[in-house]
Amino acid sequence: MFEKILIANRGEIALRIQRACREMGIKTVVVYSEADRDAKYVRLADEAVCIGPAQARDSYLSMPAIISAAEVTDAEAIHPGYGFMAENADFADRVEKSGFVFIGPRPESIRTMGDKVMAKKAMIEAGVPVVPGSDGALPDDPAEIIRIGREVGYPVIIKASGGGGGRGMRVVYTEAALLTAVATTKTEAASAFNNPEVYMEKYLENPRHIEIQVLADGERNAIWLGERDCSMQRRHQKVIEEAPAPGIARRLIERIGERCADACRKMRYRGAGTFEFLYENGEFFFIEMNTRIQVEHTITEMITGIDLVQEQIKVAAGEKFVLRQRDIEFEGHSIECRINAEDPFNFVPSPGLVSKWHTPGGPGVRIDSHVFTGYTVPPYYDSMIAKLITYGKTREQAIARMDIALSEMVVEGIKTNVELHRELMQDASFKAGGTSIHYLEQKLAQRNK
Ligand code: ADP
Repeated sequence: MFEKILIANRGEIALRIQRACREMGIKTVVVYSEADRDAKYVRLADEAVCIGPAQARDSYLSMPAIISAAEVTDAEAIHPGYGFMAENADFADRVEKSGFVFIGPRPESIRTMGDKVMAKKAMIEAGVPVVPGSDGALPDDPAEIIRIGREVGYPVIIKASGGGGGRGMRVVYTEAALLTAVATTKTEAASAFNNPEVYMEKYLENPRHIEIQVLADGERNAIWLGERDCSMQRRHQKVIEEAPAPGIARRLIERIGERCADACRKMRYRGAGTFEFLYENGEFFFIEMNTRIQVEHTITEMITGIDLVQEQIKVAAGEKFVLRQRDIEFEGHSIECRINAEDPFNFVPSPGLVSKWHTPGGPGVRIDSHVFTGYTVPPYYDSMIAKLITYGKTREQAIARMDIALSEMVVEGIKTNVELHRELMQDASFKAGGTSIHYLEQKLAQRNK
């Protein structure tokens, strides 16, 4: 096992990885920007290295700064967390070429899956069902684009091959709007993702977002660890996640889970990963794969009892993979609410000094957060400041516990979306389960009327 791991991230996930390491007796090196100097995990780390100014491109996105931090501290491996460098194949490559272990998949897997067109192709080859659409990237010829649009059938969605984080997507309802939409998305994709390639998919009008967690050893061993329902979204970004997904037959989940594990074996996938699907009328359609730990990994941990971050570390260290599919048992229900520093009505970010921070507790309550009273939320990064997770024997119990936990939560000095989460815990459709990816936007539109 490693003696020392460098954590190339910040915020709650830096703390989460640190906790996993400390439990395993592994020393941690934390890198931080000038804006994160006073963070909790910086104080708790065995070693901490300042890697640059607040702007992420000069610190958390700086390959030379991170690699030299690993060199000067003699770290053996680098955990990228999520976001920042987590899905940057060049970074993974450079980490390995510099003699460190990258805690994640092989650079080739990150490269293939990071390109959504290539990822879909790989999935078709592995026998995983995908959203119907263009066969690969869209060509330049306008007549050909129009023809593909007719074939796929409206509405369609134009997506950037290199897109991520809910960006680089445009829904098109009529043929008249198609060519302009393709051109705009291409321009945006070129500047945002350095890759102008776009493709077309059928725009599903009432789907749910269901994803499968996998874990694999880079050889022939691969297992799936159940599903997560992440349909509660705003602007294609997840707000609430839960596991298991309410109302979907177990045999359907098992069938798609097996397909995903199979695909991992075919790709010789290494580490943790997530296959994301849209689910409509009893069918799953692959949209993309995330080759990293995800924000919502916690709810899978709650219902399986498996520490996914520790499993990532074990696989990276080359430990023999002992988990077998038949050992994985799912028990109870778990929900995660993403607590963001933002206005609960207009969603404008609300960074600043947290003058009071009181977190809930009690049975079945987990909080992953780096925040404390007196902490200042910097304006430079993602606005998520905490993940509130509850567990219950039943979905009803998990919801009831979440409702109570949210009511106990006290945050002063900044605005948060706690109020929105409270509204959702009381929402009849959410309580019934199975709402689509459009539900929250529709509800918000009603609320703002
Ligand atoms: P990203 O990498 O930016 O997260 P995804 O491909 O995972 O992009 O899509 C994010 C979200 O966008 C999905 O969860 C879903 O809400 C919506 N979406 C993506 N593709 C489609 C589609 N073909 N039809 C309807 N909604 C879609």
